Amino acid sequence: MTDTYTRFVSHGPGRDIAKRLGLPQPVALRRYRPGAPLIEGPVLVQGSTSGADSLAAALLAWNLDVRRHAIPKEKLGAIILVLDELARPEDLEHPVLTAATSLRDLAPNARVITVSRTADSAVEPATAAARHGVDGLLRSLAKELRAGATGNGILLAAGADTTSPGTLGALRFFLSGRSAFVDGQFLTVTSGAGQLPDDVEKPLAGKVAVVTGAARGIGAAIARTLYRDGATLILVDIPAAGDHLAAVANEVHGTALQLDISRSDAGQRIIDHAVARHGRLDIVIHNAGITRDKLLANMDAGRWNSVIAVNIAAQLRINDALLASEHFRDSPRIVSVASTSGIAGNRGQTNYAASKGGVIGMVRATVPLIGERGGSINAVAPGFIETEMTARIPFATREIARRLNSLQQGGRPGDVAEAIAFLASDAAGGISGEVLRVCGQNLVGA
Ligand code: NAD
Repeated sequence: MTDTYTRFVSHGPGRDIAKRLGLPQPVALRRYRPGAPLIEGPVLVQGSTSGADSLAAALLAWNLDVRRHAIPKEKLGAIILVLDELARPEDLEHPVLTAATSLRDLAPNARVITVSRTADSAVEPATAAARHGVDGLLRSLAKELRAGATGNGILLAAGADTTSPGTLGALRFFLSGRSAFVDGQFLTVTSGAGQLPDDVEKPLAGKVAVVTGAARGIGAAIARTLYRDGATLILVDIPAAGDHLAAVANEVHGTALQLDISRSDAGQRIIDHAVARHGRLDIVIHNAGITRDKLLANMDAGRWNSVIAVNIAAQLRINDALLASEHFRDSPRIVSVASTSGIAGNRGQTNYAASKGGVIGMVRATVPLIGERGGSINAVAPGFIETEMTARIPFATREIARRLNSLQQGGRPGDVAEAIAFLASDAAGGISGEVLRVCGQNLVGA
């Protein structure tokens, strides 16, 4: 569902009024539908390196309409700007300004994707400068794009190249409607690990996945998305949410496990349930979370402790049990839900932001531990998402909050779920320790 304002300014007199007054003009975003093409229109692969050539060849193998040179006035579905051999900041000029001449030809909901190397893998300061320059370039360009178009970047660490499974997996994600509300973000491919799915419509086929906090909101959307992508599901929520949990579990043909994740035996209960039903466990999505907002000056121990207990201490304890288990060893994947509050901070949310910042710290430190098992761990940080929680924000505050991003609208629970489904898939096996924001590129804060 689009919000009322977006509907008003999308056509007729509403559109004219918004244009004249310089008001935000959000458009309906292109979202993934099974069976829909990956991207509509030609894909321009800009860049003259051998990495650009092999990437273009990989896209041709997906039957995309690939261009190596722009045809003037032709509407483009995407521009992929390959900058994998930058040595000095001056090297940016030619490829970037060449790509710039095609920006006016982007179709609505188009994509601009940079493919470059991580700055910290450079030896020379000039090379690091050129590589990190891509960061500022892409984030600014994403703010200039209009009509639902987004800009995102793929960073190659020393162990990855332009056709590593993680690079191609991230490219598919950014090109498709799965990334509709991801804008101005980077994903780093750290290794050549991972595998593209045999069936692109069922990337999670054969996987057993646990989703916590699945009775409603974002958790229920994650359950539906993982099910659509082929996973077998175990849904966890507190006993008080049992009826809703059972309803979602029925819908996705999964099983319900009524469990407070802050119990000390929660990890073992989850493993036992999965092994008893399916003999294995492949994916765990830590989504359950709570807020108990108060200014820090008015904070009490009850509010502080409950948020820390559910949002981060429970995840740490469950991960300890998972990593000690012989049943979580076959390319296991963990995805945690953080929040942009844990990155940029939010007034009245010191406890929540501490817990969500904690999720980010935990994810990064767990990379080597799960890596030993051939697995990965990542976080997704949602921004303003249209849920029951955000519907309770007073009208004026809510209206400002949902417009203050490059796409000028709130995201949907399904947008968060799409990012999680991608990071839980084997295509993202070479991506670990990342925090992917699903926030439409929030304009305030970090
Ligand atoms: P929600 O309150 O609608 O759903 C959370 C679910 O978690 C509920 O079903 C609840 O019963 C369950 N839960 C809570 N405590 C639990 C426990 N101890 N054990 C098991 N289950 C428990 O929230 P939501 O908006 O869907 O948020 C889901 C996640 O996304 C949370 O981690 C939240 O912090 C995060 N998030 C949400 C937004 C947003 O805009 N809605 C933004 C950023 C981050």
